[in-house]
Amino acid sequence: SSKVICGAPRRSAWPSSSRRLPASDRTRATRSCGSRIRKAARHLLGLINDVLDLSKIVAGKMEINTEEFHIEEVVDDARTTVTPLATEKGQDITFIMEADIPVIRSDRNKLKQILLNLLSNAVKFTPRGGSITIHARHKDDSVEIRVKDNGIGIAGENLEKIFDEFRQVDGSYTREYGGTGLGLAITRRLVNLLGGEIGVKSEIGKGTTFTVSIPEVLRGAGECNA
Ligand code: ADP
Repeated sequence: SSKVICGAPRRSAWPSSSRRLPASDRTRATRSCGSRIRKAARHLLGLINDVLDLSKIVAGKMEINTEEFHIEEVVDDARTTVTPLATEKGQDITFIMEADIPVIRSDRNKLKQILLNLLSNAVKFTPRGGSITIHARHKDDSVEIRVKDNGIGIAGENLEKIFDEFRQVDGSYTREYGGTGLGLAITRRLVNLLGGEIGVKSEIGKGTTFTVSIPEVLRGAGECNA
């Protein structure tokens, strides 16, 4: 069966056992192996990009480019990127933006990366048909963005650990969800680069809310290492 072939890691075993299969099974086996190879390649590419980002930040080499922009544009951009994934899982992403949010001066691409990481986790860790809400408001001299889902949640004892490098609540080899365990470590460091803070609240089976707060005006950009 295709399982046997894919499960055999020895190179020499692969072609010979594949030749013994009837043609229809061979096609199925090849397709299944192909999709596993593609999945592994995607995972590796993600891992490489994450490791590169993280090492750049740790080395203090991540450049910060400040510009003025509307929060709404960045949230919309990030939301548009994850919408196809959410739609595939029958989830909606609602965006509530309070009226009095000023134009901010910060690093637009880094904020987008932060939101993308949080939103893609929200989609990933929320079952089919769930909902995700993004809420933005002005608070003191900062802008606060909350990303809330009604997904699987995180146990209290794991809440601090999820920001550690390579930390996944389910770290088993057979875990259900993909990912590298670097997303939140990078997210936290990016938030720090923007002079902000990130927090999380969660309840198992009920959902998770991440709150990111970044200053309206980022000062001294380029001098700070996360
Ligand atoms: P991963 O690549 O596994 O998504 P992250 O660093 O982004 O790595 O997240 C670390 C872990 O935190 C995840 O593996 C998951 O266990 C947990 N997690 C992150 N976001 C959520 C969420 N919205 N709901 C439930 N669990 C989450």
